[in-house]
Amino acid sequence: FNTERFGQHILKNPLVAQGWVLLLFATALWTWPYSPSINKANLRPTDKVLEVGPGTGNLTVRILEKAKHVTAVEMDPRMAAELTKRVQGKPEQRKLDIIIGDFVKADLPYFDVCISNTPYQISSPLVFRLLSHRPLFRCAILMFQREFALRLVARPGDDLWCRLSANVQLYAKVDHIMKVGKNNFRPPPQVESSVVRIVPVDPPPPVRFEEFDGLTRILFTRRNKVCHANFQAKGVTEMLEANWKTWCSQNNQIVDDSIDMKTRIENILTETGYSESRPAKMDLDDLLKLLSAFHEAGIHFA
Ligand code: SAM
Repeated sequence: FNTERFGQHILKNPLVAQGWVLLLFATALWTWPYSPSINKANLRPTDKVLEVGPGTGNLTVRILEKAKHVTAVEMDPRMAAELTKRVQGKPEQRKLDIIIGDFVKADLPYFDVCISNTPYQISSPLVFRLLSHRPLFRCAILMFQREFALRLVARPGDDLWCRLSANVQLYAKVDHIMKVGKNNFRPPPQVESSVVRIVPVDPPPPVRFEEFDGLTRILFTRRNKVCHANFQAKGVTEMLEANWKTWCSQNNQIVDDSIDMKTRIENILTETGYSESRPAKMDLDDLLKLLSAFHEAGIHFA
């Protein structure tokens, strides 16, 4: 029985499982000293919960006590069978639906709160899948590898401020809410973990993810280099020129060849004042201003 195959590091410390749920339920029994505001993540008895990767259901059974309904998406049929057995014949049984399959591909139902302690390989797909889900959920409480969690919450100017931080923070407010040591798991993983809370920005900003991601991909490849140097990287000018020509033809604009794309890009960077800025220090506002200046010139990133 290879528990490593699906990344099955199961929470063994009941206090952690409980602490996690206590955080959610805003009970006053246990206040996280670094972040008293955590009590705002309260789960309500009317809430529908999505749990990703329930495993044998250590968290699931606790959530079932407090929520109206849980949909659990579990990829490993043996784990799903364990969980089914665990609630069989109990009143909780009718509050639980289990979807056997890969969360990244599954059809998701409506949910208010998402809870997940899943393998770290799916961290990024998990976050972006959640953020693109509609209607928006209220809040997600997710366990990640420490490093990934710290990148999610990094601020402009921090060492870990990166493409992931910008892409996620455009659509959500992210807080680090607790550290979980590796010895809380069986078998212990290689790395430390953290629990983060993600609250989507509602309504979401009217920016296509592919466009913003296209810009951050260029800028954060070398985040300490100035913007104009990043735009000089191999293939960037050609890609933007191709996108611009497509845009011109779709919008019945005459392709004006009198200025080359390299100059157009430089002009935009100079006019916006970002030519000499370093992405490592640019905040969301800067990135959005730059993106919109490119769009005004008909230049797109996706
Ligand atoms: N949530 C339980 C806990 O905290 O004790 C178990 C966590 S275990 C680390 C991760 C679980 O996620 C495993 O049961 C694994 O089979 C499941 N899993 C892994 N990848 C998945 C995916 N892509 N979709 C759904 N479940 C997945």
